[in-house]
Amino acid sequence: MTSTGRPEGTLFINGQWVAPAGDASEPVVNPATEAVLATVPVGTDADCNAAIAAAREAFDHGPWPIMPGAERADLMTRFWDALDKRHGDIVDLVIAETGAPRPLAEGLHFQTSMDHLAFFAAAARWNPVESLPIDVTPKPTGGKLLGGGVQVHEPFGVVTGITPFNFPFFIDVAKIGPAMATGNTVVLKPSPFTPLEAFVLAEAAAEAGIPDGVLNVITGGTDVGRRLTTDPRVDMVTFTGSDTVGAAVSEQASASIKKVLLELGGKSALIVRRDADLESAAQFAVGQYTLQAGQGCSLCTRHLVDEAVKAEFLDLMEAYTRQLQLGDPAEVTTTMGPLIRESQRTRVSDYVDAARQQGARVVTGGQRPKGLDRGFFYEPTIVTDVGHGWPVAQEEIFGPVAVVHGFRTDDEAVAVANDSEFGLSGAIFSADSGTAYEMALRIRTGGVAINGGSGRMNSWAPFGGNKRSGIGREYGLEGVREYTQTKVITFNAG
Ligand code: NAD
Repeated sequence: MTSTGRPEGTLFINGQWVAPAGDASEPVVNPATEAVLATVPVGTDADCNAAIAAAREAFDHGPWPIMPGAERADLMTRFWDALDKRHGDIVDLVIAETGAPRPLAEGLHFQTSMDHLAFFAAAARWNPVESLPIDVTPKPTGGKLLGGGVQVHEPFGVVTGITPFNFPFFIDVAKIGPAMATGNTVVLKPSPFTPLEAFVLAEAAAEAGIPDGVLNVITGGTDVGRRLTTDPRVDMVTFTGSDTVGAAVSEQASASIKKVLLELGGKSALIVRRDADLESAAQFAVGQYTLQAGQGCSLCTRHLVDEAVKAEFLDLMEAYTRQLQLGDPAEVTTTMGPLIRESQRTRVSDYVDAARQQGARVVTGGQRPKGLDRGFFYEPTIVTDVGHGWPVAQEEIFGPVAVVHGFRTDDEAVAVANDSEFGLSGAIFSADSGTAYEMALRIRTGGVAINGGSGRMNSWAPFGGNKRSGIGREYGLEGVREYTQTKVITFNAG
């Protein structure tokens, strides 16, 4: 029988809340207050083994992969309902765990994730059978054979989902939603910094009557991640995180030839042409480099501005930055929260200090904010007069730091935008939308927003990156199909 309501210190395996095999645990810390929110188990090899076995059993012998899509869709809709009932708890958890200000936690973290989950539930109804063109082949005995065929889109099997700290509910949903909708079974491992939303997902799955073993949740860090990406019983790994760990995951999964989906880091460029609406562009720029305290994969953190308007643009950016209210995200007035941990704050300040030493000009920010002694806060920081090859301009900092470069021609702007190991997103502001579109086509990324165009988070829009930003897409038809493999069945139509 499936249980709901998580007893402390347990993991979710085969529809049950079970005590972990080991006794190691670690605290989950509120990054704004440094208070300990909870203590969660560090999963062991034995726990991974049990979770993978449960997912394997639920795939190989359970009803989930073979039940009609409409039935799976109904169960996923009940899953959605169970989460919706927990709306307030989930938003509070996101605020406490990630440091997201309330409007961001309500909007992108919760509501957009729920929209995505509704999309995935609907996708479970999509007919996975497609007709192929008729085939006419000469028979050796004379005459011709009329062949027909279909292609079907089948689940991979056992999928392990490994997620980062910055958008835990959102990315956990991005993994389990399409995997479950298409009939796979899942073992989810959230970041050790932000594991609690995954437990809420497990509670909701149990309440909704999702069959045992379809969703399992294990907490832990690198060791658990390594186990979930190497076990031969796992068919597919879906990973979101840094490019370095993504490369390790790819290598770990290769020995047993698993399908790997990688959503990795970014260092995306915003291009501001001289004919742009500078106020809108500067507002967008500040929103980009400070959302979730700059801890977002697809944020534009390199701002390339036509030299003719760069000084004015910097003034506007500085003015909008000064309007931000740093503080505890639980306060309604707060518009920017903390970084996730002290180690991340040190990393951010090291990049800014190194750039300063190399001769960069820090326009604003560049230190810990005064008066915020607890919590891992860092001032929103704009840096300019920076070489394109400097670490601050090339590496993903994952903090509230914008690097502003000048450019003279569109070709130069496109070349600098492409001068990156990453290729996740990008943006262009210009009154000449046709030219902006042509420039967007030349930027090697998974998406470009023109004049603040939204829609990248639309459930129908495939999301993902080029180069070191990843392999594969999430959302949309393409994203759902990532969790399936194609089989062709032919028949004699004569
Ligand atoms: P991270 O790479 O440090 O960790 C991600 C996950 O991998 C964690 O759950 C971690 O425990 C696990 N892990 C660590 N070592 C592992 C190993 N050897 N094998 C398997 N799993 C392992 O990332 P993070 O610091 O939590 O998150 C920030 C990164 O995530 C940034 O680079 C950001 O750009 C990226 N990100 C990308 C997207 C996207 O959609 N492209 C979205 C959000 C975040």
